[in-house]
Amino acid sequence: MVNLAPIPDELGESIFSQMAALATTTGAVNLGQGFPDGAGPSAMLAAANEAVDAGLNQYAPSIGLKPLREQIAAQRADRYGTRYNPDTEIVVTAGATEAITAAVMALCEPGDEVAMFEPYFDSYAAATKMAQATRRAIPLTATPAGFEFDPTVFADALNDRTRVLIFNSPHNPTGKVFTVDEMREIARLCAERDVIIISDEVYEYLTYDDARHVPMATLAPERTVSVSGIGKTFSATGWRVGWACAPEPIVAKIASVKQFLSFTVNTPFQIGATTALRDCLNWVESLRISLQSRRDVLTRALRDAGINVYPTSGSYFLQTDARSFGEEDGMAFCLDIAHKAGVVAVPSVAFYDHVDTGRHLIRLAFCKDEATVKEGAERLIKYHRSR
Ligand code: GLN
Repeated sequence: MVNLAPIPDELGESIFSQMAALATTTGAVNLGQGFPDGAGPSAMLAAANEAVDAGLNQYAPSIGLKPLREQIAAQRADRYGTRYNPDTEIVVTAGATEAITAAVMALCEPGDEVAMFEPYFDSYAAATKMAQATRRAIPLTATPAGFEFDPTVFADALNDRTRVLIFNSPHNPTGKVFTVDEMREIARLCAERDVIIISDEVYEYLTYDDARHVPMATLAPERTVSVSGIGKTFSATGWRVGWACAPEPIVAKIASVKQFLSFTVNTPFQIGATTALRDCLNWVESLRISLQSRRDVLTRALRDAGINVYPTSGSYFLQTDARSFGEEDGMAFCLDIAHKAGVVAVPSVAFYDHVDTGRHLIRLAFCKDEATVKEGAERLIKYHRSR
């Protein structure tokens, strides 16, 4: 036997893979891993198929196909008024996850601190570990009005070692959409401390009611890496087409790391992504409306049954509370309901360092088709009644 160091906790099997496997073995309704049931826009799908058939199956440039970089620049400019040079300030990545990992590895030295709001998406912790940096989780507080940000707690968490803040809005797993005032304060403190902001905006189009997505780059252009992708916007999470946009010296560093991770993103799906950004943005509004209505279906059904649901204004997700079912431990609850209620959910404690704060929280995905969302709600309500 070779002698191997153990796999660090941050790189252990992700909670999403664990819960997806549980959904497969139990046959439960899967409100766990966040991927949509619906297909993306047909013009986008056709463009990728045609690219394969046309023989466009070799390497793209490492930073991505130029037409895609131009469409990304156009999308950021048209929607947000932020301008990026497609040749020097945009890099296409294998999903937003690679953009974030490459950025953390490129921007941090061993021992630097990476700040992130808690609960945090698991890949942030993994990227921090791989960069030999140190994670600092800054709690958001769960209140009946949603997950709240405390500027004092944030300011206190930043220190001389803080190099990067990984910011995420709309936020996975809470569905919080940060307000512009909150973001201004975050941008101000990051400027004061010379902290670079990696802004994960993969749910940029998926905001509900009167919540609006504000890109961090509009508030801190010189220090923000804007990260997004087509997975959530066009319901193609398996395509793995994402990007990072930032001032040239930052993108140069990210692109240098990205070269030796995936080298380049698969060519046909970059072509599909180019079509999506150019021709299919109207389609996204119908997705947004439909997701908002599925959120409402799930929220109302659970609340009417007396189950606590935190308000969510963006993303695929809402948070509920195992304590509504008489259970304190969300992990045990999720294992239980897979078998006894036939529903798979994600225990939010997997996204916490301060585990006591998040122990009881449960993430439910409402991006599944409406019948599945309804069935999941009915099963949870039935289980709730049986308690
Ligand atoms: N982003 C999705 C989620 O939060 C999937 C994550 C994953 O499986 N790595 O559920």
